[in-house]
Order: sequence, then structure tokens, then C-alpha cells
Amino acid sequence: MIVGGGPAGNVAATTAARLGAEVIMIERDVVGGAAHLWDCIPSKSMIATGRAISRTRAIRGMGLSSSLVTSDDDSVDLSIDTSGLTARIEGIKHDMRDGTTGLLESQGVRILRGTGRFTSPRGVVVDGVHGREEIEFDAALISTGSRPRIPEWCQPDGDRILTTRDCYPPKEFPDSVTVVGSGVTGVEFVHMFSSFGAQVNLVVSRQQVLPGKDPEVAALLEAEFMRRGVKLLMGARAQSIERTDDGAHVTVRCDDGRVIESTHAVLAIGSIPNTEDIGLDAADVRTDAGYIPINQHCVTNVPSIYAAGDVSGKLPLSSVASMQGRKVAEHVMGLQTREHRHLDYDKAASAIFTEPEIADVGLAEAEAFSSGRKIRVTKVPFSTTAKALINNDTQGFVKIISDPATGVVLGGSIVGRQAAELISVIAVAVTAGLTVTDLADSILVHPALSEALAEAAE
Ligand SMILES: Cc1cc2nc3c(=O)[nH]c(=O)nc-3n(C[C@H](O)[C@H](O)[C@H](O)COP(=O)(O)OP(=O)(O)OC[C@H]3O[C@@H](n4cnc5c(N)ncnc54)[C@H](O)[C@@H]3O)c2cc1C
Repeated sequence: MIVGGGPAGNVAATTAARLGAEVIMIERDVVGGAAHLWDCIPSKSMIATGRAISRTRAIRGMGLSSSLVTSDDDSVDLSIDTSGLTARIEGIKHDMRDGTTGLLESQGVRILRGTGRFTSPRGVVVDGVHGREEIEFDAALISTGSRPRIPEWCQPDGDRILTTRDCYPPKEFPDSVTVVGSGVTGVEFVHMFSSFGAQVNLVVSRQQVLPGKDPEVAALLEAEFMRRGVKLLMGARAQSIERTDDGAHVTVRCDDGRVIESTHAVLAIGSIPNTEDIGLDAADVRTDAGYIPINQHCVTNVPSIYAAGDVSGKLPLSSVASMQGRKVAEHVMGLQTREHRHLDYDKAASAIFTEPEIADVGLAEAEAFSSGRKIRVTKVPFSTTAKALINNDTQGFVKIISDPATGVVLGGSIVGRQAAELISVIAVAVTAGLTVTDLADSILVHPALSEALAEAAE
């Protein structure tokens, strides 16, 4: 029994069905979850459209000229077709939903449209489009996801004061926008709106964007934002966001007295788990600050009930949710062979879809220094590769972190074009315990950006 059909739920469902389980999945909204509806898919679709604008700007460096790009300030003469953009995003969501639903149905998963609630540690009730149904289960997965956190000092109106869910695309494209929150989601929104030509302000509560990330990477992104004319309000916390009297603007007030006005504001200050109203008390499932604690098999305090995805309070990534879902299914079905490895969250790759793209995996340099662990760091800029010169895009670098005694790859980060794709090589090395020699001995493609990886490994 799976409650919630996002990445965690639907991967658990298809895997368990493939392994021979009878699977029922309850979804109150859309199969694919928030990931397809509001988060990963629409945000990356918008960012890809924004990237088309920067690619257009880049044609001048590729030996082409176009009246679309003005030579004096490199601005691009394009206008945003909001209905075309909406249709594009809806089309992608539709295809993703159909693909996921088709896969679930082809594996024999029974999808119940409705809201699920536990009635006991062995039972769920579904209030669905076809009425009420009570179901008993041998094992259940809670994968009900999360939603944007809304602070008490701000009331989003979906019009000018927006959550991340109101932006795909917004009803009216912002002339200027203040993004509150400089974590991964916040910086992606800054990047997205600045790509579309909006004047962007970013409220950064600390002294660097992307708190906790490699300071060198954060500095690079800050420099790129400043080059784009983004105004960074460092060390400021937003205290209130209100519409101006004429309703045409919003005012963001910060705790250090700074006040900033823009046509729109976007809240990107994290999310909260969907764990209320799903009968956790009746099921005896414990929570901690709203999240559901789990062990290494994603089992909650109740042996027959698992939790995966954003509700589990682990890394809030779709990729992690899917992997947890797969591990849950394997554990439920007793697949405890050599093939069933425990999930190691420290080895999850992640990416930030800005320009330049940023990706990392495994041990970070700063983390190693603070723990006193000896590491070897090798860094190769993309500008040394033929492919970066051919692409006319030499920004960024590859950094590999390894154990100086054994050469085992412990982590790495990549900044630059295709970083989200290229990090996979380091991720596989980290998961499989490969050494830098294993990477350096692989005969890779030429010309390719991955040559920077091989060089760093060498
Ligand atoms: C703006 C943004 C961009 C993001 N981009 C990325 C990205 O590029 N890459 C990445 O890896 N991660 C990204 N994430 C994170 C990612 O979206 C989440 O980690 C992921 O969606 C979590 O998956 P999940 O299965 O836990 O839940 P969700 O995707 O939230 O799905 C949960 C599902 O449960 C359903 N549900 C809830 N309660 C009930 C109930 N009682 N009964 C029935 N159904 C119920 C909901 O309707 C929903 O469909 C992004 C997040 C945000 C906010």
C-alpha cells in the first residue's frame, strides 16, 4: 500500500510490482507528484527556455551575426510568449504523467485516485473519486511529499507574492522580482528570472549564497549574478512582504532596515512535510518536527510501515526519493542479497541548474578540512579542453577529491556547462569505490568536456 505517487511512491510501486507484490497506490492529485507538477519538471523546463535566450546571445561568439542580438550591450531582442511557455510546460508535464501512469499500469499497479489516511498500523481508508474504500495491507509506504514553507509574516497571493508553485510561468511576467532565500531553489529562481530579463534582488540571510556549499563555488555564482545585474542583499532576513497601496508592487522589509520594492516577490525558504491529517497517530507512526524518522531500510518505528521521499527528512531530492522507493520495495520483497545495498545519502549527487551549472557528490573539501581528514584535491579548468574552446564556453572547472594513500575517489564538484551530466562519472566512482587511476585509465571521448575529468584524475 503506497500513499503518495511522487518519485518515492511510483518507483516503490513499479519495483515492488516487478518483484511480484500486489500493489495499490493512492494519489490525491497527479501521478508523478509535486516533482512533476510543481518542482523539478516545470522549473527545469523554464530554466531550459531561459537558456535558449543565453544561447541566442552566444551565437555572436560562434562566428554568426544576428539582428536579434544588439552588439553594444549584448541584449537579445526576444519577447516572452506566456501562453506558448505555459503550453510547453503543460505539454511536458502531461507527457511525464502519461509515461509514469502507463508504466505503473503496465506493471499491474492499482492506482486509486483519492486521499489516503491510516486507520491503524495495518489499515488505510481512501476517500476517492469513486467513494470511500478501506484497505488492509501487509506493508505500507508513506510518500506524501512536502509543500513550500510559508512563514507567519507573509501571505502569498499567487499574483505578486508568490511561492515557487506560482511561477510556471507566473500570471504576469515580472519586470522586477525579489527572491527571498538563497538555497538551491532560491538561486535557481534568481537565475531563471534574470535569464528572462527581469531585474532581480536576492535576500541572502548569511554572508554567502548557497549556505553550506563550497565557498569557491558560491563565490563564482555570486560573481555571475552580479555580472547579470542581480542585487544581492547579504546578511539580511526578510521580515515582511506586502503589496503597495496601488497593488502594482511589493515591498520586502528586512531585519537590518533595508526595504526593497519590486513588481513581484518569490518565497524560497524551504518546505514542510505533508504528514498532518494522514492518520499517523492511528498507525502509531512517530514524527520528529513533522518528519518521519526512518532506519537504513526506510522503516519507521512501526515495522510494517516505511517512509520515503521528502517526508523522511533526508536529502529533499527527487533522485533520492526514487532511490529510497526502490530500496523500500526491495526490502519489503525480501531482496536482501548482495545486490541490495544500503542507501548512502553521503554519496548522492546533486546539481544546481544555474549558468554555470553546479554539481557535486560525496565528500566536500571544506567538510574534509573541518574534520581533519587528509585528502588530495585536483582541479582542472574546462578552459584547458578543446571542447570548451569549441563550445566557446570555457567557464568552470572539475575538482576531484581523493584519498592520498589509496587514490580512492571520495568526492568532487563540477562547475560549468553540462556539470549535472558530467558529475555522474564521479558519482559512479564514489559509489563503486573506484580510484583516480581507474578514471585516468578510461579511454574517454575526444573532444569532450569529460577530458577535464580524466586530466584531474591523472
Ligand atoms: C522548485 C523546486 C525544484 C526542484 N527541483 C529538483 C530537481 O531538479 N531535482 C531533484 O532531484 N529534486 C528537485 N526538487 C525536490 C523534489 O521535487 C522533491 O524532493 C521530490 O518531489 C520528493 O518526492 P516525494 O516522492 O517525496 O514527494 P512528492 O513529489 O511531493 O509527491 C508526493 C505525492 O503525494 C501525494 N499525497 C500527499 N498526501 C496524500 C494523501 N493523503 N493521499 C494521497 N496522496 C497524497 C501528493 O499529491 C503528491 O503527488 C525540487 C523542489 C522544488 C521545490
